[in-house]
Amino acid sequence: MISTGKELLKLCKEQNKKISEIAFEDQTKEMKISKQKLLEMLKETYSVMKASASDVITNDKINPYKITGGNAKKILRYAQSGKSILGKSIVTAIARGFSTSEVNAGMGKIVAAPTAGGAGIIPGSLSWVQERYGFSDEKMLEGLLVSGIIGRIIATNSTIAGAEGGCQAECGAATAMSAAAIVELCGGTPKQSLTAASFTILMVLGLVCDPVAGLVEFPCALRNGSGTINALVASDIALSGVESIVPFDEVVEAMYEVGNALPETLRETALGGCAACPSAKKIECKIFPNRLK
Ligand code: SF4
Repeated sequence: MISTGKELLKLCKEQNKKISEIAFEDQTKEMKISKQKLLEMLKETYSVMKASASDVITNDKINPYKITGGNAKKILRYAQSGKSILGKSIVTAIARGFSTSEVNAGMGKIVAAPTAGGAGIIPGSLSWVQERYGFSDEKMLEGLLVSGIIGRIIATNSTIAGAEGGCQAECGAATAMSAAAIVELCGGTPKQSLTAASFTILMVLGLVCDPVAGLVEFPCALRNGSGTINALVASDIALSGVESIVPFDEVVEAMYEVGNALPETLRETALGGCAACPSAKKIECKIFPNRLK
């Protein structure tokens, strides 16, 4: 099993292969399944992801806790108005990041990659890239293979849980997984994929986990929206040739150290950060009247 970025890059170089090719072999070996079976699983995964990135934009769903529902649609409408600062296309990507978060909050079907909290980022950014470049669904599976191996390296050497490492670990990891995939899909080198992954983590290093009322909704959906865009930003920076002076493995290690240094109040306990604000506590009290007594 490949467990570091360094090892992954070495194999890509020695075998003159893309990350997705190395990951494909590694994953089938690890899971002891045929290549065909893995492809089928990836296909199903991507179809759920794609649906979740557009689900609440096109359908009316009710969020049981009514904290954040409806925002994906609002953002999409704004994008279509032509008045947005970033332009219709980019703002549509933000709406897609929100969409999966809202599907998750509404107990709909999502792929928790790497976790439910950051589940909007890969679907939002990859489906946007697919549409922009006209990639086939089959091609997108290569992206998922890259995302998968990057997520596994992060999980092996650090953490992907907000309760352990803060939101940098959940949304940060999801963004790294997306960016590495996007770079490969857009013709970048394996090193550039890892560079983009490093950049995305550095963009949110230290980001705390502070969900209001302990529900994965606010500020989670916001971070899925910004993570979707960060994946695109980091990919462009890496593809331009900018290098990370700190390699991916060291960035992952730094993320782990920072996560360990975070107090318990900022690790999914809803006791600190935004979750501890008076307005947030009022919402929590309304939803869970017995919890704060
Ligand atoms: S704030 Fe916490 S619960 Fe919400 S997405 Fe980030 S890590 Fe997950």
